[in-house]
Amino acid sequence: MLKDKETVWGNCLKLIKDNINAQSYKTWFDPIQPLKLEDKVLTIQVPSQFFYEWLEEHYVGLLKKALEKELGPGSKLEYNIIVENSGSSKNARAYTINVPTRSSTGRKSNEVGVPMNTNSSIHNPFIIPGLKKLNIDSQLNPNYTFESFIEGDCNRLARSAGFAVANKPGGTAFNPLMLFGGVGLGKTHLAHAIGNRIKEISNNKSVLYVSSERFINQYVESCKNGNNNDFVNFYQLVDVLIVDDVQFFAKKEKTQEIFFQIFNHLHQNGKQLILTSDRAPRDMKDVDERLLSRFKWGLTADLQTPDLDTRISILEHKMYQDGIKLSNEVVEYVAHNIDSNIRELEGALISLLAQASLNRKEIDLELAKKMMKNFVRNASREISIEYIQKLVSDYYTLTVDQLKSKTRKREIVQARQISMYFAKQLTKASLKNIGMHFGGRDHSTVIHACQTVNDLMDTDKKFRSDVDELTKRIKINTY
Ligand code: ADP
Ligand code: MG
Repeated sequence: MLKDKETVWGNCLKLIKDNINAQSYKTWFDPIQPLKLEDKVLTIQVPSQFFYEWLEEHYVGLLKKALEKELGPGSKLEYNIIVENSGSSKNARAYTINVPTRSSTGRKSNEVGVPMNTNSSIHNPFIIPGLKKLNIDSQLNPNYTFESFIEGDCNRLARSAGFAVANKPGGTAFNPLMLFGGVGLGKTHLAHAIGNRIKEISNNKSVLYVSSERFINQYVESCKNGNNNDFVNFYQLVDVLIVDDVQFFAKKEKTQEIFFQIFNHLHQNGKQLILTSDRAPRDMKDVDERLLSRFKWGLTADLQTPDLDTRISILEHKMYQDGIKLSNEVVEYVAHNIDSNIRELEGALISLLAQASLNRKEIDLELAKKMMKNFVRNASREISIEYIQKLVSDYYTLTVDQLKSKTRKREIVQARQISMYFAKQLTKASLKNIGMHFGGRDHSTVIHACQTVNDLMDTDKKFRSDVDELTKRIKINTY
């Protein structure tokens, strides 16, 4: 008798359950649905690409064993990945990846996470010089979109400039668009997002993303092969050129010269250039003055470190994309403790999942704290004013903006004063600095707030217990 998909997958799960710990099972196997069984091919639905990769990396042996036990040799597993089309109202799109159960899927990524195309035309870019319309692989990572790029104060200017450029490549004053900022702050993501959007809305534009290292290597290669001109011609044909990490052009005089030529050609022809760098043009050393001045022609927009709220949003978005659920306290704890860059934030989230799987533990605050020690250099961290504002406003179900506002409503004034009091007690910030964080109030307001809180604590029991509770919360989250 033929088995149905539920039975087959149910039996697989039994075997899997016996072989891994309960937490891993819950995290990685509970969310899977059997979709289809045809001959020896079972299709399962997983919540995200991340899930699929994780399963392939960690459980491929087990899955294979279970499936072969059920369906005999030669059985296959296919994955159906739910892709959320965030931002649009379209239904979730699903696509199937045919994956024979083996440890490697044959899909690799290069260092910037762009799926590498094995027969990529850019690998040898000189094969089609003279072609009017370029049909090239843009080398864009489809996951790096505007939809998945969370907006915050830290990136608003860069994001909106990028968006404007994407809607009218070559047609804005932002040419080149120069994005700069420290590591892991989203330069590459944003640059890809612009490219992806251009591809989406203007089908006939050729977009090309290239890392500066790759550009340099291709150039060196072309010199060796004596097809320098083809190299230049090829780049001069694109409509939108994205060059990532141009700081690596420093000291590479010949490459700079060639790039200068390509830059000028594209610019003169109304083509769009998008460049990223880990420092502002004025801080770039060993780059030719002429080229530097070109870099400054358009708009230079920087990406800064994200504030707490943005970090929380980024984590939440990431979890949503990956089909992971974590409690708010864990998310806030992670976001509070990892404040340097977004790549680390994502790394922390993944480590947390891994730890939970390995140690057979729920992902709770305790585990998060233990884990975070590996990430955070000094175990006990300084408390920031913004963190205090967030905790206090949450406690009183207000927003941080209300705390900073001019309003004199009693409950808001009180929450504001308590926040200032904690800022004074628990941070090293000056009175003036604290005042600045609360909508630009002056230092005497902060002194007054501290006095008021001290007075109220002596006279008002309820008030006192509120402050005690808040103290506890702030400390819990900081040690
Ligand atoms: P950079 O190029 O500046 O070093 P990346 O663009 O590689 O940084 O970003 C590092 C990681 O952080 C990537 O996985 C990226 O998707 C993510 N990231 C960066 N900025 C954001 C953002 N605003 N919203 C969501 N994810 C982001
Ligand atoms: Mg980058």
